[in-house]
Amino acid sequence: MRLVFIGPPGAGKGTQCKRLVELLAIPHLSTGEMLRAVKRQETALSRWVASYIDAGKLAPDHLVMRIVAQRLQSEECVNGALFDGFPRTIIQAQLLDDYLAEQGIKLDMALELKVVEEELIQRLLKRATVDGRADDNYETIRERLHVFKTQTAPLTDYYASQGKLEQVDGMQSEALVFAAIKECVSRHLDV
Ligand code: AMP
Repeated sequence: MRLVFIGPPGAGKGTQCKRLVELLAIPHLSTGEMLRAVKRQETALSRWVASYIDAGKLAPDHLVMRIVAQRLQSEECVNGALFDGFPRTIIQAQLLDDYLAEQGIKLDMALELKVVEEELIQRLLKRATVDGRADDNYETIRERLHVFKTQTAPLTDYYASQGKLEQVDGMQSEALVFAAIKECVSRHLDV
């Protein structure tokens, strides 16, 4: 199964993805984690990538697609993948659709986790004190939320028009959110 997880920063995608990959036994492909791994390498590319992450801006679409495609070619992804934080633009969604179509496969569903903005800011500021992520500061958080609204949120229409969109209320408890996600997934797959 190939599944896209859409949600603003702080919506709880990471937490729910961990539970979902266990349930579906597919790898978790977080482009945020992949890009942070590139950032740690101390190369010209890593400094370039860091300039986007640290400013809360999106890395270039084709670069992200290239990193994802490399990972999709690995053996662990033959039975599917859970895309976390990717695609984040309509262009990335089209690149992914094209890439999968070339392999004769398709995306099964897109799941959107919905959380109101005030709650997101509170959660991200709290995460900053626990994880120490450089981009979890007030200014960058506001930029990432703006980027989500303007560039990523339109993906819901893109996937709705393909009949693949499912939406879950992310304001509930972690357990209730996961129960709702399982229900959505079961509409597309026997789990
Ligand atoms: P995340 O861990 O998903 O919150 O991502 C952290 C940062 O990595 C984002 O603010 C972007 O700078 C970058 N990033 C992650 N995924 C993508 C993507 N699909 N396209 C462009 N930039 C991304």
